[in-house]
Amino acid sequence: MEQALHTLRQVFGYETFRPPQDSIIRTVIGGGDALVLMPTGGGKSLCYQIPALVRPGCGVVISPLIALMQDQVSALRQLGVRASFLNSSLDPAQAQEVEAQLLAGELDLLYIAPERLAQQRCLALLERTAISLFAIDEAHCVSQWGHDFRADYLQLSLLHRHFPAVPRIALTATADARTRQEIAARLDLGGASQFIAGFDRPNIRYRIALKHNPRQQLLRFLRDEHPGDAGIVYCLSRRKTEEIASWLCDQGLDALPYHAGLDAATRAAHQARFLRDEGVIMVATIAFGMGIDKPDVRFVAHLDMPKTVESYYQETGRAGRDGQPANAWMIYGLQDVIKLRQMMATSTGSEEHKRAEQHRLNAMLGLCEITSCRRQALLNYFGESLGQPCGNCDTCLQPADTWDGTEAARMALSAVYRTGQRFGVNHVIEVLRGGETDKVLQFDHHLLPTFGIGRQWDASQWRSVFRQLVARGLLSVDLERFGALRLEQRCRPLLRGEESIQLRRDPPQAKPARQQTRTSLPADIDIALWEALREQRRQLAEEQGVPPYVIFHDRTLQEMCFSLPRDCSELGMVSGVGQRKLEKYGVQFLRVIAEHAPAH
Ligand code: ADP
Ligand code: ZN
Repeated sequence: MEQALHTLRQVFGYETFRPPQDSIIRTVIGGGDALVLMPTGGGKSLCYQIPALVRPGCGVVISPLIALMQDQVSALRQLGVRASFLNSSLDPAQAQEVEAQLLAGELDLLYIAPERLAQQRCLALLERTAISLFAIDEAHCVSQWGHDFRADYLQLSLLHRHFPAVPRIALTATADARTRQEIAARLDLGGASQFIAGFDRPNIRYRIALKHNPRQQLLRFLRDEHPGDAGIVYCLSRRKTEEIASWLCDQGLDALPYHAGLDAATRAAHQARFLRDEGVIMVATIAFGMGIDKPDVRFVAHLDMPKTVESYYQETGRAGRDGQPANAWMIYGLQDVIKLRQMMATSTGSEEHKRAEQHRLNAMLGLCEITSCRRQALLNYFGESLGQPCGNCDTCLQPADTWDGTEAARMALSAVYRTGQRFGVNHVIEVLRGGETDKVLQFDHHLLPTFGIGRQWDASQWRSVFRQLVARGLLSVDLERFGALRLEQRCRPLLRGEESIQLRRDPPQAKPARQQTRTSLPADIDIALWEALREQRRQLAEEQGVPPYVIFHDRTLQEMCFSLPRDCSELGMVSGVGQRKLEKYGVQFLRVIAEHAPAH
């Protein structure tokens, strides 16, 4: 372990391990197998990189994401680690060179695509090599139950048979217990030590607001809080990603669309720009995301509500992998609820499957409507508990108001019933508010006892009531009949007067003008120095054709802004500055700092 700590400091420039990194590393260095569950950004890579450096031989990493191997390898080489990869992007001559390096014992880490590993030729090669460990990254790909199943992963159980003496470490950020069991079974990891880190992502601020003018709300969020930041905007449809991306470009922002309908070359080009340039906004469907290893994604915005809490947590989890403050921002409204309920109703699949889907959607809606801490609710959903409200979500920061909505809800339900459960929300609201529209008159709804009984609330308050009734499953929406509202069994106790209901009081739409509040930067940072350091980093990255974060992470540059190192030994104390980077870049960054802080 002494050697591991030395490597952490010398090579990676970090002072201490983050638990449970130390226990995992101890296990693997000792030759044991490990199954590691850690949230995104938890620091999984070090768990195999350090043992690979400490143990004799080359560490073999199996990773499904060919597109990212190049960046992972570049990042390691920046640290002075001898890393390479073998995948289909190499031509035969290049592959041969890597193989020769491997056989000559000149590699510390080798990344291999799973389909290649299973080939006889590759196995024969590895059998002639000293191997320090096998790391199976994104191990949930072996599970058919999970969401990223990869048939090639099933072959990986052969590792145990072919290389019984080599320790294996499987890593994933996917939480659920069933996937975990499947990983252990399919990879023959029954005897492995399991390490499960908490799933909390304390640096992510969760916010869910009501949708009223989505484009303007998004623009304001981006301009006020994330000028120049990289982030992802998720939308449900392909067309919408293109529309929003082009609209954001019209507003002067650097945005690109990404969805499965784009051709492969365009997708690759957009992804490369997102990874390599700073401050690119990716407007994407869920097709974008798996294994986006970019550490400095400062926000994830949802313009449409995901169908499940699992998806929401996974998508928002792509923000802030570097541990720096990041925003998970979502807007949703009655239409989202209706649309998703409809999609479920018309989905094919067994009754059991539909019930499970309904259940998951209800949990997601519950999260949107909740008036207590969102993080507590999220963690609770994944079977974890957080003792205190988190203080870093919207409901903690600005406690939501509730009101006794029993009377309003009864009026709403009764109006739905009296109009025959055949009308959509707008018409029912007209009836409640006593609007003498053509439709009201045509159906004689002005003669109903419910006509005009709800004038004390305006249309937007009524929409809020209906949204919450649908979200809680008291009303359903019949999509085949133009969104007609229908009563559900669950509304009976309320109608009978046996239950009351607390509703969320939606905040007023027009918010007071706000100050620019860059949530992603410390308030007292010297912006000029920060920008100058970023510019220096950008130049170096461009010269070498690597993403900027491969040179230094944001956190490292920010620490420089505060500690203002004057020489190499002071710079070497900054977290993230290892020996190799100090030698390569120390002088340039020290010069920038000296120019900006001359009096220092
Ligand atoms: P994961 O693969 O679990 O999403 P990474 O391995 O990419 O996470 O690590 C996330 C971030 O945390 C990276 O920026 C990494 O350099 C940093 N990190 C990991 N371990 C430590 C540590 N012990 N001290 C400081 N930073 C760390
Ligand atoms: Zn909270």
